[in-house]
Amino acid sequence: TLTITSLTKDFKGTKVLKGIDLSMRSGEFVSLLGPSGCGKTTLLRCIAGLESPSSGTIEIAGQDVTKLPPEKRHLGMMFQSYALFPHMSVVENVRFGLRMAGDKPKAEQKELAVRALERVQMGHLADRMPAQLSGGQQQRVALARAIAFEPRVLLLDEPLSNLDARLREDMQVELKELHRTLGLTTVFVTHDQEEAMSLSDRIVLMNGGVIEQEGAPAELYGSPRTPFAADFIGAAN
Ligand code: ATP
Repeated sequence: TLTITSLTKDFKGTKVLKGIDLSMRSGEFVSLLGPSGCGKTTLLRCIAGLESPSSGTIEIAGQDVTKLPPEKRHLGMMFQSYALFPHMSVVENVRFGLRMAGDKPKAEQKELAVRALERVQMGHLADRMPAQLSGGQQQRVALARAIAFEPRVLLLDEPLSNLDARLREDMQVELKELHRTLGLTTVFVTHDQEEAMSLSDRIVLMNGGVIEQEGAPAELYGSPRTPFAADFIGAAN
């Protein structure tokens, strides 16, 4: 579904991504894991179309999207700063995302927004204002906004990092469930190894703008292939 080939990104001469090759099959849950500054967010932003790569290509479902704007890529995204618009109701917030993503008629937008809210157990709060919601509920609305237009690919950048431990666990379970029922191809950025372990089909370990090692969680943890991988994984155990 998602194929990244020889992707590089420089910021004013500093190479942040140094040639990333990564292929994901449809419905796969892949975590990008690695130390701060290794390029995880930059890679995700390139996939999203929020950053243009210096070289290389990105294909989604066989289509070269490298030069397409974000709204033409059929992907949903949810970043750490998931800010909702304070002056819009919950359902309007979700519908707004749909408006940005395409040209569906208003009635259909509303229907999709309501359905997405129901998927994250927020249907009953559709008419509330964001300020009347807890942090976890706001996060669910942001998730509904990301999946409302039924994207092929879902991009998540540390979406759970602002939540307390308990809520975080609940959301992990729900995220996994949502991923399964919608058959979404998901790219999940985290620096939390446990989270990566429990959620992913595959972990991509990055270091200094390259992929250090990738594989199923058990494989990565059972047989780290480089000193960096062994250190990084060992450090948290
Ligand atoms: P973290 O886990 O801390 O979020 P990360 O792995 O997501 O880190 P990135 O945010 O992708 O890392 O950043 C990689 C490097 O690129 C960092 O050194 C960062 O300072 C640099 N960088 C990111 N965005 C820009 C930008 N717009 N201009 C210049 N440098 C940037």
